[in-house]
Amino acid sequence: MNLIPANIKNLILDMDGVLWKDSLQIGNLSKIFSKIQDSGFGIIMATNNSTQTPDQFTAKLKDFGVTIEPWQVVTSSQAVVELMLDALPPGAPVFAIGEKGLQDAILSAGFKLSTVDQAEKAEALVMGIDREINFRKVMEGTLLVRGGKPFFATNTDLTFPTPRGLIPGAGSWISVIVSATNVEPINAGKPAPYLFELGMKRLHASRENTLVVGDRLETDIAGGQAIGCMTALILSGVSSLAQAQAWRPRVDVIARDLAELVGVSPE
Ligand SMILES: [Mg+2]
Repeated sequence: MNLIPANIKNLILDMDGVLWKDSLQIGNLSKIFSKIQDSGFGIIMATNNSTQTPDQFTAKLKDFGVTIEPWQVVTSSQAVVELMLDALPPGAPVFAIGEKGLQDAILSAGFKLSTVDQAEKAEALVMGIDREINFRKVMEGTLLVRGGKPFFATNTDLTFPTPRGLIPGAGSWISVIVSATNVEPINAGKPAPYLFELGMKRLHASRENTLVVGDRLETDIAGGQAIGCMTALILSGVSSLAQAQAWRPRVDVIARDLAELVGVSPE
């Protein structure tokens, strides 16, 4: 018995708060994914988390006994680079406040990465979560944006779920630069449509047969609804049942966790 609507053939799954909290899996992922794969659903993971590359995410899944191909992971770093390709000259130097997932995506799109010492000459600021953020990086980023350079964000999630509770997400750090410049970033992450569009393209899916699954109403659910997909909120992460019930338009499915959504009985 699962809670997935009958017309659904493809799942676009969020990761943080749905599959795991930091290094802790939520439920038995190996069993959950066997069930999903045996049922024949197309699967894409679409994450606002910009820190890691698709290869790193598939390796993490492998450690939990789940086999997924790197093309099945769409990250906000990949999405932001698509937007930069439309807006910047090829090979432009950019200043990035972010981690490996973002840096790799920028380099593989042919852009140059400016160090903090070269930041003044960069053509754009792109920002995701950076667990080594410091005053100098924020200062250089602020000066670029105040100087009129384009400001891109991988996502604007204010918080990030961990086993100890919510900690500051990319959006909290980005808000420092927004405060200092009065400029809002161009946001590639959910609720913007880019991750979902990339995901559906890779699956050859349509919005009529795709279910968007996530733990956060204002990103996963709002974004899924905006592009016309059915949505499922999972209660193992950020948003609560009360918030989900009050959300309009209504969320199509609310499940305790991913196991309940796909019909794997609790351990
Ligand atoms: Mg999440």
